[in-house]
Amino acid sequence: MIVVIKDEATPQELQAIEQLMAGSESPHYTRLDGSLILSNERPLQQDTALRLLEFASVERVLKADKAYRLVSREFRPAGTIIRVGDAVFGGDEAVAIAGPCSVESEDQILRIAAEVKEGGAKVLRGGAFKPRTSPYAFQGLGERGLELLAKAREASGLPIVTEVLDAADLPLVASYADILQVGSRNMKNYKLLKAVAASNKPILLKRGMASHLEELLLSAEYIMAGGNGDIILCERGVRTFTDYARNTLDLNIVPTIKKATHLPIIVDPSHGTGIRDLVAPMSMAAIACGADGLMIEVHTEPDRSWSDAAQAISPENFADIMHKVRSLSAWRTAHEALSLTPEG
Ligand code: PEP
Ligand code: MN
Repeated sequence: MIVVIKDEATPQELQAIEQLMAGSESPHYTRLDGSLILSNERPLQQDTALRLLEFASVERVLKADKAYRLVSREFRPAGTIIRVGDAVFGGDEAVAIAGPCSVESEDQILRIAAEVKEGGAKVLRGGAFKPRTSPYAFQGLGERGLELLAKAREASGLPIVTEVLDAADLPLVASYADILQVGSRNMKNYKLLKAVAASNKPILLKRGMASHLEELLLSAEYIMAGGNGDIILCERGVRTFTDYARNTLDLNIVPTIKKATHLPIIVDPSHGTGIRDLVAPMSMAAIACGADGLMIEVHTEPDRSWSDAAQAISPENFADIMHKVRSLSAWRTAHEALSLTPEG
């Protein structure tokens, strides 16, 4: 159950509420958006709910009977909207994050930032600390990469998202990033999830490449239980028997996530396919099935990208995708409005 409490609760009241909630497990305390939230795994009985609601400080009591509680749709039925600069995640319009896989040089990131902004991106991406399969592959420019991203933000006005690979790097990365990315390989790095929860920056949480829906949601729950509810989920493809693409983009998860959680979800068709020519069609498919946005790898010289060249697309290609995404997104909004209109 979840009990949402106004800040005015006295210690005595809190103790009495805890006693009413009590099972074998004492409740977890979360401070979120000016409220105090007590939650535990115990199923909620009707009479307990009524007694809890008698406290003036208790705002809401929820059943929340899933393993994930705070990220469940039930907790915030209207959905979560996250604003970063001009980007609105979870609103009516699909929003795009775009930029290179890795920050390579000042000239590269400044040029790409200007191009993707022109093409319609609302957030600039770029890896400074890269999680590479081979230890011999380019590992990212590190702090220099963060400095260059900050320059690109200044020049373009776009907020920046970049990956934090390790809790030890968090203070440094958070001092530059507007959104902190937790990558696929780190979705289950619970120490890192707890650390980013305390960072007060929005988090872009990518699905682990072999993770179940509930595991993704419980990783998000780590961040929200730690007091940070600004989480954008990202489907980036999973490992299957597919032998023609880097991953299988699991778009089934998009409408499923929309039901299960109030958090916005975006789709990354670049890592989801690993193939340049598949980025456009899978972007359309993602928007059609309800994604709140896209994250796309764009490079002014795609074939010369220092990492993930095979999936990098040109700024022209990106602008074309965005053009189609805008009309698809408008169609989707109109269609949803129509389907909500009562018959007759
Ligand atoms: C990335 O977006 O830069 C990245 C490394 O993606 P993923 O964690 O999904 O592999
Ligand atoms: Mn990449």
